[in-house]
Amino acid sequence: MAKREALSRVLIKLSGEALAGASGSGLDAETLKYISREIAAVHERGTEVAVVVGGGNFIRGDAFSSQGGIDRAVADQMGMLGTLMNSLALQSAIESQGVPTRVQSAISVSQVAENFIRRRAIRHLEKGRVVVFAAGTGNPYFTTDTAAVLRALEIEAKALIKATKVDGVYDKDPKRFADATRFATISFEDAISKRLAVMDQTAFTMCQEHDLPVIVLDFNEAGSLLRAVQGEEEGTYVGGKA
Ligand code: UDP
Repeated sequence: MAKREALSRVLIKLSGEALAGASGSGLDAETLKYISREIAAVHERGTEVAVVVGGGNFIRGDAFSSQGGIDRAVADQMGMLGTLMNSLALQSAIESQGVPTRVQSAISVSQVAENFIRRRAIRHLEKGRVVVFAAGTGNPYFTTDTAAVLRALEIEAKALIKATKVDGVYDKDPKRFADATRFATISFEDAISKRLAVMDQTAFTMCQEHDLPVIVLDFNEAGSLLRAVQGEEEGTYVGGKA
């Protein structure tokens, strides 16, 4: 089983809802402040930080198009634009913590963000800038989980940190079952054979294929991101062979 180590470069995946506060939709200024402080603390430690943020606080393409009348590909494009709004908000919030931040978008919006250019993204990271990757993969029918894995591999991140509302991966739903137990570490094979939902299947398969560890943690627990990059036991570490 893989041992935890301090991480020199990470990609943090946040769901859109993570920026929404209690209501679950739109953007919440206090929540943005909290998240950007947590990210700034990781940056201050010297870890290179990239972020992919979802768009579910605005729109999810599959759910919206299934109501009828809106083409799936169009609804997905709207979803990707939602992630762009989140990315701009996050950029501004992180910069207000004194940390230089760039947004790179998979859909060209050159007046508001750079286009995604891999080598340029890596250069930003090396120069100590946080990079927020917006607009998912740029393609409909994908999720921002898949975009997060893709970008993490492209920038050669040491791990993908999936920052959620739950403090790790459980053997069953901890909200429904009082006796649910949390894994400290689990291999890709075991997570698949136990049918544990770490992230969507396309994304998870990519992680396994390319041996990209995933740390699932609760971002509402102050300091959890920092502890994870320092190699402390935080949340669930998914990776390695069974
Ligand atoms: N989306 C897409 N392609 C991508 C990433 C996202 O079409 O590569 C669209 C899709 O409609 C998705 C929405 O953007 O439902 C918001 O992303 P996601 O559902 O992954 O956000 P999260 O659940 O993380 O907030």
